[in-house]
Amino acid sequence: MPAGGEGELTLSVKMRVSPEPEQEEAVLDLMKRYRDALNYSVRTLIANRALSLTKAHKLLYNDLRERYGLPARVAQDCYREAIAIARSWLKNPKRGSMPTVKGLSMWLTHELGYRVKGDHVELAESYRLRVIGWDRRYGNFPNREATLMFREGRFDLYVTKQVPRPAKYAPKGVLAIDINERQIVVGNSSVEQRIETPIERALRYRRLAERLQGKYSSSRYRAWRRRGGIRRRIRHFHRKARNIIEDWARKTAHTIVSLAKQNQLAVAREDLTGLVESLRRLPKGHRTALIALGYRRLAFWIDWQAEKNGVPLFVVDPADTSSTCPRCGTKLVEVGHRRLRCPNCGLEGDRDTIAILNIEERALSQMGGTLTSPTAPQVTDVSPNRWGEPVNRPKGALALQGGEEVRLPSLKTFQH
Ligand SMILES: [Zn+2]
Repeated sequence: MPAGGEGELTLSVKMRVSPEPEQEEAVLDLMKRYRDALNYSVRTLIANRALSLTKAHKLLYNDLRERYGLPARVAQDCYREAIAIARSWLKNPKRGSMPTVKGLSMWLTHELGYRVKGDHVELAESYRLRVIGWDRRYGNFPNREATLMFREGRFDLYVTKQVPRPAKYAPKGVLAIDINERQIVVGNSSVEQRIETPIERALRYRRLAERLQGKYSSSRYRAWRRRGGIRRRIRHFHRKARNIIEDWARKTAHTIVSLAKQNQLAVAREDLTGLVESLRRLPKGHRTALIALGYRRLAFWIDWQAEKNGVPLFVVDPADTSSTCPRCGTKLVEVGHRRLRCPNCGLEGDRDTIAILNIEERALSQMGGTLTSPTAPQVTDVSPNRWGEPVNRPKGALALQGGEEVRLPSLKTFQH
């Protein structure tokens, strides 16, 4: 979720960096000491329920300096990070065993813990990292705190920036998103586009990992856990599967949000909380796990991209979106594979198209007033409507047709 104050968004900008070759070992060594010191600090803070800077400093500073050999500034960042970890662990009612940090990453306070100087980053004391590449779009905004990470042989510096939150435009219509296992359907009453999900592709890697795990977990191979190479390969396959989902979610969200922005439409998606919860209750399998991950990440990226681009966003109630008639609200009946018909008004369509129309409808009613645009949205770069027949919307409803301002009916009238 985007964070930040009222008028600001907090972004994290990735900077590829690389230590000078002769310093690489020293930087890694510092990061390892930091990690050990961090785990020690978290345990100490939790044991003492010491969550303030003053208490943490008193309890830890000397140890971090002497036992772990951390430079002064690094020691302070270390217990600051430990406080954050301890806090969130103590706050979690379902907390398991004591949190342990395994990866190599370091908090760095701007100016004190790190400094960007031209094409170099300076770390506490005397370490220099060359800047290899970074996202220049946010170059003009001041740097805040950062995290240095070492993963898969690469160093990345994630620099926090605060940028003004863009103003949201008044939408001319809605671009609805229906998410299901095989595909994402994006559209409204005049356009529709379908995007495949990468679930099958990601699943292949999960299965590779599983096969390897199965092979080496038999009693004959008790020692498999100690075999670094195999463990690494299994981890690699799992990571690969997750990366496929993450990349797809980010790119798809970008495509959808750009399309909405070009056409000054609001984006509407279903509230997926219930869906993800119900997937969680299914027997645990790789497929359901990947689908749930895909849903969560896509929703995350859509919300974030919308926020970053000033695109209005609506999250609508998902109940019955693919089983009620978007025109008259009657329960639809099945008339073929994924095809539904309304016994009342005769509307017929593909299940996903029905869902799109219902999501659009719900977003429009959430807007609750009038669409500001006098013109119909011109969505040009999506495939044409796939309805077997044109949708004739009922009178008084919200067809996005040109010429006049479209008034929305109020859906609920409460009587006292
Ligand atoms: Zn109907």
